[in-house]
Amino acid sequence: MTPQEPLSLRDGPRDECGVFGVYAPESDVARLTYFALYALQHRGQESAGIATSQDGHIVALRELGLVSQVFDEPKLQALGGSMAIGHVRYSTTGSSAWENSQPIHRSDRRELALAHNGNLTGALELHLELRERGVRFSSTSDSEIIAALLSMHEAEAIEDAVEDVLPRLEGAFSTVVLTQDSVVAFRDPAGLRPLAIGQLGDRYCVASESCAFDIIGARMLREVEPGELVSIGERGLEVRQVVKGARRAFCVFEHIYFARPDSKLEGRLTQVSRRRMGEILWRESPVGADLVIAVPDSGNPAAVGFSTASGIPKDDGLIKNRYVARTFIQPGQELRKHGLRMKFNPLPEIIGGKRIVVVDDSIVRGNTTRQIVRMLRDAGAAEVHMRISAPPIRHPCHYGIDMSTHEEMIAHGRSVEEVADELGCDSLAYLSIEGLYQAIGLPRESHCDACFTGDYPLERTEEAAGGKFALENADSAMALPRA
Ligand code: SF4
Repeated sequence: MTPQEPLSLRDGPRDECGVFGVYAPESDVARLTYFALYALQHRGQESAGIATSQDGHIVALRELGLVSQVFDEPKLQALGGSMAIGHVRYSTTGSSAWENSQPIHRSDRRELALAHNGNLTGALELHLELRERGVRFSSTSDSEIIAALLSMHEAEAIEDAVEDVLPRLEGAFSTVVLTQDSVVAFRDPAGLRPLAIGQLGDRYCVASESCAFDIIGARMLREVEPGELVSIGERGLEVRQVVKGARRAFCVFEHIYFARPDSKLEGRLTQVSRRRMGEILWRESPVGADLVIAVPDSGNPAAVGFSTASGIPKDDGLIKNRYVARTFIQPGQELRKHGLRMKFNPLPEIIGGKRIVVVDDSIVRGNTTRQIVRMLRDAGAAEVHMRISAPPIRHPCHYGIDMSTHEEMIAHGRSVEEVADELGCDSLAYLSIEGLYQAIGLPRESHCDACFTGDYPLERTEEAAGGKFALENADSAMALPRA
């Protein structure tokens, strides 16, 4: 780590975004949205926003920061209305500038606000096409392309506009749109990113994950089908299947890591699936050891499964500072040498002299894992065996997760033994692809696992994807004036 580098305490794949939408005239919809976003905070910590619609006007408030930093009581009270949408963001296309925070607000032909989770693989082409038609953009996020297409559309009803626009979009998009009088939500034909419908009394809401329903007292009804459009409004819940029969490709990494352990995905409680991943990991790659520890918190369920299946006791060998993501102060040279201790502190009394199995959910770059191995050895561990409850990540994700270059991945072009050498551990084993699907109990054919296998489920993925800063680069290349 050089003095110029910001202190990066995350080495796992980055979460993408979380979305929420609600129609409930008798409730404080801004407050409901605030708490739903609070539950979805793990899906994005760069910015948060809420838009509400009241008396034919849309008000959107968005800011860089965590949900609890962006909103306070007066701001929530200013957001009145009978319906709302919300968004938490980690940037996957476009930088983390304020302009790229969401919900995006546009009023070309129709006024709307839009919140999107995913990544359009064909964003560059659509962006150029629209700009050639004179459309101005105020952000460099691909989400504004969807907002522009819907806002400009001539159809009277937003549902008809979505029906026309959805088939033109390529990539991953779980999207929520607020118009002056309705909330609609739709999901890409492959269903890459999650989106679910909840019931709140006799009203409805939509959210990226079911944990957002629990916090506001809503009940999960079902997931939005891939290629489906859902309207929630005065007439209740209305649905249209816009695209039928496409290959399903739900992101299997949501089961491994992204979703909260208390969320249900495809009918499975994530915590239970992750435990099973740990059990199968033990069966596939047993090791003689005295103690199982997790890399907290995301490694916890798989570590429990590994310990249960193996009979090797589990304890907390690493203590995590839960508030570390909230500091924006850089540690300076003197503290920097303690590196990862900002995030994890080992317990020498528990791990000293023992053969340790360390269970984690994934390794991307390997920097954190390497430091953890060293830290555990320094704390007296006799042996350190890494067990990862996912297969090796060897390929970029073009569908909304920030893993965009091969160079970022320690397992790319290396054998498992070579990765173990790089990390300095006594042994390393990953869960197999077969073991992964056995753990979730669902077929591989209906999922995306491209970051493990290189098998991209959508056609044209690699040539269409331009990387995280594709639209910024396109901007400077065209040197067109920005709105
Ligand atoms: S490439 Fe990996 S992270 Fe991206 S959608 Fe597919 S499984 Fe998920």
